[in-house]
Amino acid sequence: MAAIGFIGLGNMGGPMALNLVKAGHDLTVFDLSKDPVAKLTQAGASAADKASDVVKGAEFVVTMLPAGAHVKSVYLGDDGLLAAAEKGTLFIDSSTIDVPSAREVIAAAEEAGMPMVDAPVSGGVGGAEAGTLTFMVGGAEAAFAKAKPVLEVMGKNIFHAGQAGNGQVAKVCNNMILGISMIGVCEAFSLGEKLGLDAQTLFDISSTASGQCWSMTSYCPVPGPVPAAPSNRNYQPGFSAGMMLKDLRLAQDAATGVKAATPLGAAAEQLYTLMEAAGADSLDFSGIIKLIQGNLTK
Ligand code: NAD
Repeated sequence: MAAIGFIGLGNMGGPMALNLVKAGHDLTVFDLSKDPVAKLTQAGASAADKASDVVKGAEFVVTMLPAGAHVKSVYLGDDGLLAAAEKGTLFIDSSTIDVPSAREVIAAAEEAGMPMVDAPVSGGVGGAEAGTLTFMVGGAEAAFAKAKPVLEVMGKNIFHAGQAGNGQVAKVCNNMILGISMIGVCEAFSLGEKLGLDAQTLFDISSTASGQCWSMTSYCPVPGPVPAAPSNRNYQPGFSAGMMLKDLRLAQDAATGVKAATPLGAAAEQLYTLMEAAGADSLDFSGIIKLIQGNLTK
């Protein structure tokens, strides 16, 4: 069993850290908020007084923070993790952040003699709780191999995506597909309804035809065809429109940086920005069907 530091015990990090404790690892945790720390210490983890204290004696350190600025502030600088850690400590950042920040922090870690991978996840809070997350990992082969057994406690599918930052690249590309495909499904079901086609009939046909996709078969935006979909519970997430917007913005920033044309990704970002402007970003991302149908209410 390994000594593991864990920083960021929010909706995702909390249950991920809990699974590491349950697997018998020796966890030291930190979060700016006291409640999630208390939950973890009750389960058997130790609490650190500040972020950089979690590295003491740690073989691995996992971070699960909101955005690139948080990750940079926790890792870099005189009181950052890299200044406090011993050489050889393996860092795993599972936050979803911008590619340049991920590459900057990993380069700084390697320069300080510490291997590091970016390892963003897919699977949401349910996957974090069940330990079935998908990890998309960027970084050196040796660092990936060492991180894998720890990631396997929290996830089911662990992919090595290549060089540092490529985990983030895979994540933004995947979620750009997801955002675009959800809007496509919403448009098709709205058009079908206006033309007199029952949603269940369209689902039965399209889910076995070439229009089939995850947005339709797992998160169908109209209530009925997929009973577990958020559309059946007034679009309570699930995966919120705000989270989707964050990822679409990361995709657009990344696309601008390399001059990639992503016209549908840009359109998807704009549509989710309209949801945010309407105060509806806490709805599931499939709730964008309300915007498309012109009946979005907060
Ligand atoms: P969250 O806001 O619930 O949790 C973030 C935690 O980080 C909070 O507890 C906060 O107090 C803590 N934190 C922030 N700054 C800190 C600092 N300087 N030091 C210590 N702790 C600090 O967010 P979340 O939903 O757990 O998401 C975390 C990351 O995972 C994000 O990058 C998100 O995009 C990504 N993600 C989320 C989901 C999801 O469904 N929630 C799915 C996939 C990926």
